[in-house]
Amino acid sequence: MRITGLTVADVRFPTSRALDGSDAMHRSPDYSAAYVVLATDDPELSGHGLAFTNGRGTEVCVAGVRALEPLVVGRTLEGITGDMAGFWRSLVSDDQLRWLGPEKGVMHLATAAVVNAVWDLWAKQSRLPLWQLLAHLPPEEIVAAIDFRYIEDALSPDEALDLLRAARTGREARELQIVADGYPAYTTSAGWLGYDDEKVVALVREALADGFQHVKMKVGGDLASDVRRAALIRAELGDGVLMMDANQVWNVDEAVAAMRVLGEFDPWWIEEPTSPDDVLGHARIRQAIAPIRVATGEHVQNRIVFKQLLQSEAIDVVQIDACRLGGVNEVLAVLLLARKFGVPVCPHAGGVGLCEYVQHLAVFDYLSVSCSLENRVVEWVDHLHEHFRYPAVVEHGRYRVPRDAGYSIEMLPPSLAEYAFPDGHAWTVAEAALA
Ligand SMILES: [Mg+2]
Repeated sequence: MRITGLTVADVRFPTSRALDGSDAMHRSPDYSAAYVVLATDDPELSGHGLAFTNGRGTEVCVAGVRALEPLVVGRTLEGITGDMAGFWRSLVSDDQLRWLGPEKGVMHLATAAVVNAVWDLWAKQSRLPLWQLLAHLPPEEIVAAIDFRYIEDALSPDEALDLLRAARTGREARELQIVADGYPAYTTSAGWLGYDDEKVVALVREALADGFQHVKMKVGGDLASDVRRAALIRAELGDGVLMMDANQVWNVDEAVAAMRVLGEFDPWWIEEPTSPDDVLGHARIRQAIAPIRVATGEHVQNRIVFKQLLQSEAIDVVQIDACRLGGVNEVLAVLLLARKFGVPVCPHAGGVGLCEYVQHLAVFDYLSVSCSLENRVVEWVDHLHEHFRYPAVVEHGRYRVPRDAGYSIEMLPPSLAEYAFPDGHAWTVAEAALA
């Protein structure tokens, strides 16, 4: 099968109008995506992928995807899957594009959208959901999909192979169990920073009634209001698990000071307490606020920074992101690094399509890498799922395991038309109203 064309769309949702998704750094975000479709010479099969972005700037990511087009179009799927790591390296190491990264920033988001579209295509051709394609690949093929450049000092291909082989034991039983029970989820929908107290309390009650045992709140506004909101949520939650997310707003010392105060509400973790690039800062915060755990990852730009966070014992929770890392290939590297260092992976989700993506990665991690659900929950945000052909489903606080072939990221044509920026109806109507 040959890839015959690539199209990319700028899709934006006006989520800022209700302050959905608002946090300490993103006060009025419009959840958006650079959305890629790979056409093939089989009219029945196309590969879909997206990179989640946040409003203005999506056009830059779209341009990044266009720059990658000549590296993908014209190749055969068999040629790509026969040398997955080589394919991945050809995208991140193109000598005329690499200067823009390397392996970080807009080009890495664009890489993720394209790489994930290839995996979607492969899974569809195999008639399997992505998690099952991955779980049924021989360990040698998983290792062959990973670019070990820059991480071999922490994890060699042979070690990765040993970890994957050891994890084969009991996989069939785990697969039956996870399909029956689903994967544990936590909700972020209740505690957006822009919501008033009444709305937060009502949403926490709703989350508990829906079967969630873990709730995450945004912090990093002014400390007095963080304390007030944390007290409200803790009172509603009782013994339930509360996580906090500062979205990078603090300096290192500010993070330590704030968490010494907010520690009163027994947070299970503090997420993104400071810059995602500050490896040593995370290590210092972690030491200072133990036993509160430190989590980060949604802005950790590649496997190399994750390696350093793990080597420095800087984090307790690895929050992989399906399209901040350079797509499935690099996620595999980070899952194995986390396994080697004994740190649980709790994927970042929400946004547009991130829940759809990461459910596959979490299930694969359970089946074939970590083999454990202990201290592991996947983020859930109940927004925008209606735009997907095979939306993620959470029931009683657990993700149902996806059964449709592919990576679950295909969006519905009417949604793509309605929210196309700037000409979709959702945007032209707003423009008209403003005028
Ligand atoms: Mg977060």
